[in-house]
Amino acid sequence: MSTPTITEAANERSLNFLEEIIEVDLASGKHKSIITRFPPEPNGYLHIGHAKSICLNFGLAKKYGGRTNLRFDDTNPTKEDTEYVDAIKEDVQWLGFNWAEELYASDYFQQLYDWAVLLIKKGLAYVDDQAQEEIRLMRGTVTRPGTESPYRNRSVEENLALFAGMKNGEFKDGDKVLRAKIDMAHPNMLMRDPILYRILHADHHRTGNQWCIYPMYDYAHGQCDSIEKITHSICTLEFDVHRPLYDWFIEQLEIFPSHQYEFARLNLTYTVMSKRKLLELVKNSFVSDWDDPRMPTICGLRRRGYTPESIRLFAEKVGVAKRDNVIDLSLLEWCVREDLNKRANRYMGVLNPIKVVITNYPEGKVEMIEAVNNPEDESAGKRQVPFSREIYIEQDDFMENPPKKYFRLSPGNEVRLKYAYIIKCEEVIKDELGNVKELHCTYDPETRSGLGSSRQVKGAIHWVSAAHALPAEVRLFDRLFTEAQMDNIPEDKDYKDFLNPQSLQLAKAYIEPALANIQTGINVQLERLGYFILDKDSKPDRLVFNRTVTLKDSWAKIAEK
Ligand code: ATP
Ligand code: MG
Repeated sequence: MSTPTITEAANERSLNFLEEIIEVDLASGKHKSIITRFPPEPNGYLHIGHAKSICLNFGLAKKYGGRTNLRFDDTNPTKEDTEYVDAIKEDVQWLGFNWAEELYASDYFQQLYDWAVLLIKKGLAYVDDQAQEEIRLMRGTVTRPGTESPYRNRSVEENLALFAGMKNGEFKDGDKVLRAKIDMAHPNMLMRDPILYRILHADHHRTGNQWCIYPMYDYAHGQCDSIEKITHSICTLEFDVHRPLYDWFIEQLEIFPSHQYEFARLNLTYTVMSKRKLLELVKNSFVSDWDDPRMPTICGLRRRGYTPESIRLFAEKVGVAKRDNVIDLSLLEWCVREDLNKRANRYMGVLNPIKVVITNYPEGKVEMIEAVNNPEDESAGKRQVPFSREIYIEQDDFMENPPKKYFRLSPGNEVRLKYAYIIKCEEVIKDELGNVKELHCTYDPETRSGLGSSRQVKGAIHWVSAAHALPAEVRLFDRLFTEAQMDNIPEDKDYKDFLNPQSLQLAKAYIEPALANIQTGINVQLERLGYFILDKDSKPDRLVFNRTVTLKDSWAKIAEK
């Protein structure tokens, strides 16, 4: 069988560059099946950028009948915690993916140590007594070669003894490091005798005090991949300069040749994504917690009302790029609308209520009015909505002095109450300060929806029956930051200078009684207002809803251009 070239494989279907590579590797027999991994460091909660990486790694393995490991990259004991491990597992599963194996870099500490000993024996690693800062200063610059350490030419025996001493706790933190012996004049700065191990007398969340030396990322990552026989090790672009080092270790150790491939990391407008910054937002109470619905974390998005489907759709739409770019936050919002439009039942609720008394409607009368639960899904059925003489409508749906083409309620004008009647505003009742207190309207009994009335009005507004409505706290969110390009802020500024003071607004809403027994995790649409989800802060006598997203689709306009 002849081996197809990358271009031939790509021409058959539109493939992303990773799919092209994998198809060629499978067709050529280089790999019988593929193994990918998702390698989070358990030092924070996962965010939407990680979701992109998860969808990619698990998605590729699924598409090509391979498998994906979940590997915790737990080589920094001081920053890591089992709380994060548990949260990461929950988030990956919630996104809809199952890992083949749950693994930890710390499981390989002994193997990594043995390989370091092997490198020493091959004359390819040495113990350096210089401080990390000194080592950094002697690395040279891009244009100037580095300077060799005075400890570089220690004998193999001395290095073996010292490295064993490091492991056995004979030295203090920072006293010594193990370095690879490569080339201090290498054009790639990372190849100038990189540090493999540092001394850290710290308790590890899994290995306890068993180790007091810990491997550096570059030394650990590729070898972990190799141990697991990862065929395609996918990471973000900034790691492309690390690839020669990744390959160097694998070659010198003559172990399974995993390969690293880089794609563009996800950046989003109005969003910061580094775990360090997200942790800082939590610690300084700029947000309530990691799962604050304004956070770009997966748990924050989940609490906000995002669905796994919407996030997977987003990952697919973003695609796999080889150049860094910034994705518009509105694409994420478009994806959740797209998904919720199909699945969310419709209800009525009023965020900023104003009372309407229908003066010619009999006192005490209640009519049950039929409403369709979801026009996109017939199987969602219908429900009965109570209608009575006193209702709430949205303050915005009334204007005392409306401009032309205002088709909602105004003095002397008519509007349709959705699913119910046409009403006409007869009188505006004000308090002593001149604020509108309530509206007195009349209704036309002939115009009930669905009964074939020929009368038409231009506007239709939502409402709830005052006597039946449930009070609810509704949390309305705006972007967490005011600046679109958060990666590109002026140097004299801090990202926290751009926090949006309006990012959370509370509304005291009234919602229709059918929502009394709604459960946490069920997405609903409040007609004309957006998609909402019951928050975990909710109590039976105090409902709390989060607005996931408004209904307006500003992305569509952008996409049409
Ligand atoms: P952060 O910089 O936010 O702290 P990280 O890269 O240090 O993230 P890791 O836990 O090391 O976080 O990441 C696990 C995996 O997720 C890595 O393979 C990493 O490349 C990937 N990843 C992290 N952030 C993004 C992103 N914004 N877009 C795509 N992939 C990402
Ligand atoms: Mg990292």
